[in-house]
Amino acid sequence: MGKEKAGVKELEFGGPLGTVALLALMPCTILYLVLLCGSEDGGLLSVPAPPGGLAQLWDVRAFGICVAWILFQALLYTLPIGYVAEGLPLKNGKKLKYKINAFQAFIITLATLGLAVYYGLDLSYIHDRLLQFAFSAILISLLLSTYLYARSLTKPESELSTAGNSGFFSYDFFMGHELNPRIGSFDFKYFCELRPGLIGWMVINLAMLHKEVQQGTGPSLPLILVNIFQFIYVADALWNEECILTTMDIVHDGFGFMLVCGDLAWVPFVYSLQANYLVSHPRSISYASAALICVVKGVGYVIFRGANSQKNAFRRNPNDHAVSHLKSIPTSSGKRLLVSGWWGLVRHPNYLGDLVMALSWSLPCGFSHVLPYFYVLYFLGLLVHREARDANQCGKKYGAAWEEYCNRVKYRIFPYIY
Ligand code: NDP
Repeated sequence: MGKEKAGVKELEFGGPLGTVALLALMPCTILYLVLLCGSEDGGLLSVPAPPGGLAQLWDVRAFGICVAWILFQALLYTLPIGYVAEGLPLKNGKKLKYKINAFQAFIITLATLGLAVYYGLDLSYIHDRLLQFAFSAILISLLLSTYLYARSLTKPESELSTAGNSGFFSYDFFMGHELNPRIGSFDFKYFCELRPGLIGWMVINLAMLHKEVQQGTGPSLPLILVNIFQFIYVADALWNEECILTTMDIVHDGFGFMLVCGDLAWVPFVYSLQANYLVSHPRSISYASAALICVVKGVGYVIFRGANSQKNAFRRNPNDHAVSHLKSIPTSSGKRLLVSGWWGLVRHPNYLGDLVMALSWSLPCGFSHVLPYFYVLYFLGLLVHREARDANQCGKKYGAAWEEYCNRVKYRIFPYIY
């Protein structure tokens, strides 16, 4: 451990000790949830052991498939399709260029997968070896984070992330030392943010559907709903890929274990929890319940997409006819803050919509177990914490204007509640 540097003023996540705990907690939680989902009982306090002991976690074939999967997505990223967009200005005033072709990569992946299944690929293998796949993804995250940290030690201060430049090894390894690690135009953080994890999550969901059909309990309406809802979420994120260039992950956070493991292991294996749960806990629901759940999903989506598109359009061009009628307040930086429309309802309407959608993904699993609700509960914690981090940064960035915004828009995420 070293001494605190000027880059980080306030340490987050409990500082060096908190991040050591998180380095262990993140992988253990992923493996625990996958194991729990597959067990008959699924009781939260039972600690199911991997069948065959810990040695069974390692599977050379699963590891090879994970590596091949990431390389395949990397190949699609480098294809000369799509277009190139500019990121926000860096500390040195320069702007990085980013290839926008994640949606095309998604379509090519689905077509390739469809063809492979047509020619006999058994997708249910992913369900049967899910634990081994999750372990492999964690191992790859660890290897990649180690490489990223090692190379960051050779980089000048200007290329480091202020959020992950404390001088404490565990902290900087977790938060990410280098802001935009690249080899040529290949941007590791940008590539991992959406592609291998989000598209991988869809493949796991489809594998769950395949398994349900194979075991004679499907395709069930609950699993079809979960697949469709999450497909819409992922397709939307990939279609609007350019929007991530203005998010906290790209602009502020370095690329360390938190994001690497989050992108490559946590998202695909934890977010597919509901689909996994439904395979081992089959159930049916009425069309009326299904319709009601679709309404919840629709409401969440309208708020989520409306809020994100409104802010994105406003940040790109405040005179855009879609947002020029909205009220805003000036800040000393020259940027304005919206105080009407979705951003006048609460300070983070996009988080509100995201949480309503998250609830709709769990509802098809019924109420007999808390496990399928893990995502909603974890996501609530994540977004409440993220909101506080963002408010702290905006307070520093905008000073009095941010205070005025908070006075005019009283609630953070939930109107009249929080
Ligand atoms: P946001 O898109 O919410 O962006 C926050 C930034 O928006 C602020 O830093 C500020 O930046 C700007 N802003 C804040 N208030 C206003 C205002 N009133 N008017 C104009 N601009 C404002 O950040 P996130 O990256 O946290 O979230 C992006 C999306 O990703 C969300 O929908 C979220 O739900 C989702 N998400 C999903 C996760 C998942 O695992 N599924 C994880 C994390 C996020 P500035 O002023 O500098 O432009």
